[in-house]
Amino acid sequence: TGRTPLLSVRGVKTFYGNIIALKGVDLDVNEGEIVTLIGANGAGKSTLMMTIFGNPRAREGSITYAGRDITRMPTHEIARLNLAQSPEGRRIFPRMTVYENLQMGAAVNGGAHFAQDLERVCALFPRLKERLHQRGGTMSGGEQQMLAIARALMSRPRLLLLDEPSLGLAPLVVKQIFSVIKDLNERDGMTVFLVEQNAYHALKLAHRGYVMVTGTITMSGTGRQLLDDPSVKAAYLEGG
Ligand code: ATP
Repeated sequence: TGRTPLLSVRGVKTFYGNIIALKGVDLDVNEGEIVTLIGANGAGKSTLMMTIFGNPRAREGSITYAGRDITRMPTHEIARLNLAQSPEGRRIFPRMTVYENLQMGAAVNGGAHFAQDLERVCALFPRLKERLHQRGGTMSGGEQQMLAIARALMSRPRLLLLDEPSLGLAPLVVKQIFSVIKDLNERDGMTVFLVEQNAYHALKLAHRGYVMVTGTITMSGTGRQLLDDPSVKAAYLEGG
């Protein structure tokens, strides 16, 4: 299309010690898209997400975001570039209240729109609104996942990176979270890069998807194409 992708990953190799986890990954996320990355346990999905944030760092290849080469940028500087992450395992601040967690999210953009953004995430996640003064660590797993996403949203990201938002959640909560992601994309034009093991939901939601197998992208296409692909069906959608 001639557009420059918002996020562009080229030939990225990442190692843990001597062990190669990403073997030369190429992937693009265009502005306004929902792109999903699916793959089995240990394929390297989280490693790619973390490499985008510079920890661990790519040993080879390049990562460009909004026209800037971020391959060698320190993580705290990357976090200021208007991309937000809701990492796997919902790393919220357990001793802080829900409200304080949301303040931390807003601090990244200076907190100027705090009241407005708080209202918005409370509308998206009414459960959080009821529990603003509860400590994060005492929230249920699903509530903590909502909080992690809400906190990421408070920073008004141009690109939202989500690592397995459905992990360990009840089907109803998964549905809610995916519908929130869809809304944010359609109404606010937020670009989303979603890593998921829940391939069926992710591919239904996404405009485009990539399949990762042991550190390599093996397939890409529209969400629909991947959902209909026999090998994707056999490997990732059986019983789903
Ligand atoms: P899952 O869906 O299970 O989270 P994933 O696709 O996100 O899997 P990664 O967590 O990226 O996979 O792991 C990719 C590979 O790198 C795995 O073989 C894993 O054991 C290895 N790995 C991940 N983190 C480390 C680490 N800190 N030290 C050594 N090896 C690691």
